[in-house]
Amino acid sequence: MDADTFREFGKAAVDFIADYYENIRDCDVLPSVAPGYLINQLPKELPENPQQWQEILQDVSKLIVPGLTHWQSPNFHAFYPTGCSYPSIVGDMLASGLSVIGFNWLCSPASTELEMVVMDWLAKFFKLPAHFLHSTKGPGGGIIQGSASEAVLVAVMAAREQAVRRVKAAQPELSEGEIRARLVGYSSDQSNSCIEKAGILGTLPIRLVAVDDSLVFSGTQLAKAVKEDLAKGLIPAICIATMGATGTCSYDDIESLATVCEEHNIWLHVDAAYAGCALALDDYAHLRQGLDRVDSLNYNLHKSMPVHFDCTAMWLRDSHKIVESFTVERIYLQHKYEGQTDIPDFRHWQIPLGRRFRALKVWVAFRTLGAEGLREHIRLRIRLAERFEQYVLADSRFELVAKRAMGLVCFRVKGGNELSTELLKRLTDRKKIYMVQAIFQGKTFLRFVVCGMEPKECDIDFAWQEIESQLSQLLSEQEVAKLEVSSLEAKKAEECHKESVKVPQVHRKDDVVGISQQLSSGLHISLGAAEKCK
Ligand SMILES: *Cc1c(COP(=O)(O)O)cnc(C)c1O
Repeated sequence: MDADTFREFGKAAVDFIADYYENIRDCDVLPSVAPGYLINQLPKELPENPQQWQEILQDVSKLIVPGLTHWQSPNFHAFYPTGCSYPSIVGDMLASGLSVIGFNWLCSPASTELEMVVMDWLAKFFKLPAHFLHSTKGPGGGIIQGSASEAVLVAVMAAREQAVRRVKAAQPELSEGEIRARLVGYSSDQSNSCIEKAGILGTLPIRLVAVDDSLVFSGTQLAKAVKEDLAKGLIPAICIATMGATGTCSYDDIESLATVCEEHNIWLHVDAAYAGCALALDDYAHLRQGLDRVDSLNYNLHKSMPVHFDCTAMWLRDSHKIVESFTVERIYLQHKYEGQTDIPDFRHWQIPLGRRFRALKVWVAFRTLGAEGLREHIRLRIRLAERFEQYVLADSRFELVAKRAMGLVCFRVKGGNELSTELLKRLTDRKKIYMVQAIFQGKTFLRFVVCGMEPKECDIDFAWQEIESQLSQLLSEQEVAKLEVSSLEAKKAEECHKESVKVPQVHRKDDVVGISQQLSSGLHISLGAAEKCK
């Protein structure tokens, strides 16, 4: 492809993306395809001859888009959001366009230095302790990892190597193998699956401590687990606290966990993947408590910031501990300034050697929005969740399961678990909105999360109409089913007791269908209002 064709193709692709976003509300949020839909439409062999970009772009529209779950649709309310914005997309286009691999400073000074700058910007925006800033010129600093999973794994492996060194120095009679076999880590049973996985990958089993109904993992629980493990001869190496757990967005008590960790030389990592954005708002200043005592911290810009995947900020209190553990030297990786400046070679802070220029999309997005724009991005999602919460509170058929936290509302249909599960099944089959369920204290509940690139109030109204009208439909159908059962029973009774004079009178099915028709036409009128949401 020559540069002129690239210009045409690139511009057409940008138009295509803009059209996609402008019309995203027209699509069902979930796709209507069956497994194999794409495999069956594509050739089995790589095409022998070159094809035109026009044809390829057309196929993206015709074949790829129908198989997408629209994560950036404002009707997506599952999991947690994945951030996105036009400036972030353009920033990443530029990074792809420049295509550099910045594993050490010389391999692209701009890549390393811009990353240091934006990580310091973000640390200050979050008012993190100064020892996490590169500009403090201490051993601390920030790096962009691909995902929270990677950041946690790096922390687990660094903690593991630290523990091995420490114990070996104190008890030289123990072999390294003996020490490694005794290491153990801790997190709450509410923590993300990636924590347990990091323990498996990092050969450091993570004990998931069961928390009580408050869902808060605190120092008391950690101290008890540590005591039990020490008695068994195990060596506690890391504790991973969560700010904003995946189920209900609960927060662990970092201050009290830190006290136990300091006493036992345990590495304390905080996974703030989603809710870390709260640190940007003064209303949530109390969440900073204890952060001055943690060894490392991760926050996913690609969740609650207008920056798209993959982009996880990770801060280290003492990067030497990681560099010590992970440094592997080769003559071809050396450069003139290596180890002579305060500028890190980020290859030592991460799992792969190569690294993308992720700082560019962050820089473009941050500059385009400004600090106040970023705060407003976060506040808007909180306000919209509050709007949804008000709807739940105003409808006596529903109840909240936990306190609303950031952009997450946990709610359920009052009564048995089947009602919430059945409601979710219907909503998912209809594909107008997408939520997932979770369980708390044996109760199944639905998680409503404000997601999408540009959610608005009318999107929340649309979601609520969909939810409450489907519940009405479900309840009226159950009513019909009940009546049918009783009519059947009545018939049986009639047959058994032919001689009995009076048969109980039952409602005809049609009466109830009449009601649901009325409901759905009512819904149609209100849906008309939501359709204006553009
Ligand atoms: C989403 C999430 C993760 C996983 O994030 P990835 O970047 O996909 O690895 C981990 N922890 C918490 C609390 C999360 O919300």
